[in-house]
Amino acid sequence: MHRVRLEIPCENYLNDVQDIAREFSPYLEIDADSPHFLGWNFCYQDGNFNINIYSSNWGDYKDSLKIDNDDELLYKKYTKRFLKHSLYKFLSKNLGVKLPYGSLTGVRPTKLYYELTERGYQAEEYLIDEFMVSKQKVKLIADCVKNQQGIINTNKNAVALFINIPFCPTRCNYCSFISTELFRVQKELHKYIDNVQAGIADFKNFLSKTNHKITSIYIGGGTPTCIGIDMLNTLLSPLSDFGLEFTVEAGRPDTITKEMLIMLKQNNVTRISINPQSFNQKTLQKIGRNHTVDDIHKCYDMAKELGFVVNMDLISGLQGESYQDFCYSVDQAILLNPSNITIHTLSIKRGAKITQEGEKKKEFGNIAKMNNYAYNALYSAGYQPYYMYRQKNTADNLENVGFFRDNCQCKYNIDMMEESSSIFGIGAGAMSKKVTGSRLERLANPKGFREYIDRINSIVQNKRQFFNF
Ligand code: SF4
Repeated sequence: MHRVRLEIPCENYLNDVQDIAREFSPYLEIDADSPHFLGWNFCYQDGNFNINIYSSNWGDYKDSLKIDNDDELLYKKYTKRFLKHSLYKFLSKNLGVKLPYGSLTGVRPTKLYYELTERGYQAEEYLIDEFMVSKQKVKLIADCVKNQQGIINTNKNAVALFINIPFCPTRCNYCSFISTELFRVQKELHKYIDNVQAGIADFKNFLSKTNHKITSIYIGGGTPTCIGIDMLNTLLSPLSDFGLEFTVEAGRPDTITKEMLIMLKQNNVTRISINPQSFNQKTLQKIGRNHTVDDIHKCYDMAKELGFVVNMDLISGLQGESYQDFCYSVDQAILLNPSNITIHTLSIKRGAKITQEGEKKKEFGNIAKMNNYAYNALYSAGYQPYYMYRQKNTADNLENVGFFRDNCQCKYNIDMMEESSSIFGIGAGAMSKKVTGSRLERLANPKGFREYIDRINSIVQNKRQFFNF
């Protein structure tokens, strides 16, 4: 493993270019105290954009691209792409490592695929030639796009509703969401729910005053079911008459009872997530989840009996899990045959307990092999991928992929990930999006639930301004 300090003479495009160096972790670690350096500078001269990469370990490298700088927006786009491409080539050659996504960074590879197609490119060839994405990943991206057809939103007046309930019974040790353990919020919980209820009333007001059409509802978190039947019922009942795709993340089996599921059904919830993450008991304990493998089976059976479409999340790269452990979980999930299985690759960010405990990304082993097993097993069992996204600090630079069977794609997941529909976000950390043609605007609610409560009046006003009602 090589340690280098980054020498950065220019702040332009810094985040994007730095991301490439970071993607080579654990083969390359950025260390401000290293005696070895890696740097780059660039300039535009006589119609050419030139980059010079220099390093103490591998010498210098120069590259040049002819770019027309008449169109400022395109100029910026291509220079950024070129810088990333050059640094990727340099590091890939000197470290002897090819990354699955080549020089492609960013959360939404499928969105780029759509953009390339719209601009008349052969998206698959372009991703391979220009971004050096592996053929295997290009197929995954293309399959997701193919499986979104007929479901992805095309109505410019569409809006999805997202409500965040950022509380959980306990905190998983890899969690970097804003979720707080329920016992810590007992005093403020009622106030938070009251504010969310008022947000729902405001959303209905928005629908009646504008020509927006609601297309899906998603209650996420956290674990919304941890707040209990009565409280959750007060939030869901004003939404129960829309007759749409209506998802509640039930997530943790220790929050699900038959009565809870019946209440969800009575409110016309159509989809729930029951997230095992792993079917290995020792792992569940290690990652801080307060439920057993048996609980997962019981909840799933009850949910199927009541006719829910069920998604199950699994995570590759969990602490202490071997390749065999993960494959066992995949096989168990497939045996249950839920409508959706989502494979997440562990992503360690600031705020996760295991980072704080000194866990290192490199110790997670060969996650790519685990994901390959999962994808092959899912394809063989008749599942197809339909949405995907990438996060920073993901083990082996991989991705999260949602699989479906029997036409059970989740519309909300597609529209949210492709940013193909507006979203009205309620609750702490919820993001509202306004899609107008190719223009996208975002409005984020404060992340902390206490701040959300304290600032509710200005949040409501900002939202009304943002959506113009
Ligand atoms: S269930 Fe999800 S949101 Fe809650 S602590 Fe675990 S990872 Fe975080």
